[in-house]
Amino acid sequence: MKHQEIMLNTLTKENNLNGFSEEEIGDDHIYTGLETPMKTDAFKISDEEKKDKIADLFSQIMDVMGLNLEDDSLKGTPNRVAKMYIDEIFSGLNPANKPKVALFDNKYQYNQMLVEKNITFYSNCEHHFVPIIGKAHIAYISSGKVIGLSKLNRIVQYYAKRPQVQERLTNQIAAELRQILETEDVAVIIDAKHLCVSSRGIKDDTSATVTSFYGGIFNTSSKIAELQNYLN
Ligand SMILES: [Zn+2]
Repeated sequence: MKHQEIMLNTLTKENNLNGFSEEEIGDDHIYTGLETPMKTDAFKISDEEKKDKIADLFSQIMDVMGLNLEDDSLKGTPNRVAKMYIDEIFSGLNPANKPKVALFDNKYQYNQMLVEKNITFYSNCEHHFVPIIGKAHIAYISSGKVIGLSKLNRIVQYYAKRPQVQERLTNQIAAELRQILETEDVAVIIDAKHLCVSSRGIKDDTSATVTSFYGGIFNTSSKIAELQNYLN
């Protein structure tokens, strides 16, 4: 009976991973969907409780690795990591931290593409929990509404502050912009370096990953060329 249960679990798990092993999923950076995979009870406990738990668990990791937590330099590390995870680098997991966006009327009747380029962001690879460092370029054509330029930056930062894969980050930003701006005419390009590729594993320090989303009118060769022109 028990054996059967285990078999079933393994089967379901394999199906979910589309036949890939967990190891392959990590090193090839395959991802499973647009939404960040979250538990249904993700926000059942408060941020403060999460920090306490993470600090405790992280001190266990350090302890297992043989680090002396009595050392003056190390003893504050578990708390620092916990605070950093919840308040900073993974704060985008909590919808409460989503930037509030106000729309304005397009009073200037500006009807060409608007490009906000070179938005620097720091994210973390969800497969290795090491940094992804990159630049995002965003473009949209107003459907009659515009948003403050700094909001474009904030939307990028919000989705970057999650354990991520670059393709999902690109598509999450695009989905958010399409919804807020009420238009399909949105483009997102991300050019990033993954420290899990450069500092470990294959150890390629020169490669970068580029991903893009071209929606609506941006999905035409003339608009793509125009956008590329602004970015170069
Ligand atoms: Zn990685």
